Amino acid sequence: MPNIAVFIEQRAGQIKKVAWQMLSEARKLTDAHGGEVWGVHLHAASCNVNEDAGKHGAHKVFTAEAAEFDRYDSELWTQAMAAFINEHKPDVVLVGSTAMGKDLAPRLAARLKAACVSDAVGLSWDGGLVVRRPVFAGKCYADVATRGDVAVVGIRPNAFALAETGGAAEAATFSPGLDAGAAKAKVSAVETAAAGQISLTEAEVVVSGGRGIKGPENYAMIEKLAEAFGAASGASRAIVDAGWVDYSHQVGQTGKTVAPNLYVACGISGAIQHLAGMSSSKCIVAINKDAAAPIFKVADYGIAGDVFEVLPALTEAVQEIKKG
Ligand SMILES: Cc1cc2nc3c(=O)[nH]c(=O)nc-3n(C[C@H](O)[C@H](O)[C@H](O)COP(=O)(O)OP(=O)(O)OC[C@H]3O[C@@H](n4cnc5c(N)ncnc54)[C@H](O)[C@@H]3O)c2cc1C
Repeated sequence: MPNIAVFIEQRAGQIKKVAWQMLSEARKLTDAHGGEVWGVHLHAASCNVNEDAGKHGAHKVFTAEAAEFDRYDSELWTQAMAAFINEHKPDVVLVGSTAMGKDLAPRLAARLKAACVSDAVGLSWDGGLVVRRPVFAGKCYADVATRGDVAVVGIRPNAFALAETGGAAEAATFSPGLDAGAAKAKVSAVETAAAGQISLTEAEVVVSGGRGIKGPENYAMIEKLAEAFGAASGASRAIVDAGWVDYSHQVGQTGKTVAPNLYVACGISGAIQHLAGMSSSKCIVAINKDAAAPIFKVADYGIAGDVFEVLPALTEAVQEIKKG
């Protein structure tokens, strides 16, 4: 029966929501098949994640404290996670497919000579772990059975719902066994994107604009609707390449992968490369004046109309509803 370790990622003391989502899903598996859920948390200053971790399903939380965990460093964090896994031998290790997790998970798997499955959107147990992940730019799903003593799995943010299964998690510590001398590279500085923006990959709602908005000056319409929803604003590659918005907004195969509860695509045709980044959104609303646009094939709700008419009306309606 599986013991599942979940990497509880923090950035500047903030825990990534995907950690709680992974704990919730892991707990469903262990409730059905036995085993325990363990949170694993690396931190620089004393912190307490036990309460939240327990609430979301962890039986136990293992923490390691070291000044080096002040900011992410591929080699040192890999050393620490490998030390934990070698000592406690979980069957499965879940890591969020965030910028940090996408770096950490494959390194960790390589270090442990373990199976590694990335960008997973589903987990099941059938005598062993079975991981569901999108393939061919999201056109279909592959169910991947893992072998070996441990599997490292990257989980797409927002793929799993949060659940509060209750319960207090037992607290434990472990030695990260850091060897800074063995590291071949050192992180000397980290530059963060402008503060105040909602993270695209973690947002509950994403409003994205494409070439249908006609020019950079009209991206304000997208931001206005996003603001009304309390959403993050995204973009197609066409308008990023045209220099209308920064690359950090790009959704798709060569941009960010998002899976919000609501994705609003405005003036976006629905090219396969764009769908690759958003087709696992729970509800997709498309606004496009071409009723035959491919985006309508994946949309739950389609508005065949002009963004210049629909967006202001929609923004006003959302603002009204939010006002109560
Ligand atoms: C290797 C590779 C990687 C790629 N990676 C990505 C990626 O990560 N993300 C991505 O998005 N693309 C990516 N692309 C590009 C992708 O193929 C498309 O070119 C791009 O997504 C198109 O962007 P768009 O939908 O904004 O523009 P268009 O395809 O030009 O579509 C604009 C849409 O707006 C509609 N429209 C026009 N005017 C209005 C109006 N007034 N009101 C309402 N609708 C209107 C049109 O009907 C049309 O459907 C990649 C391509 C390649 C080759």
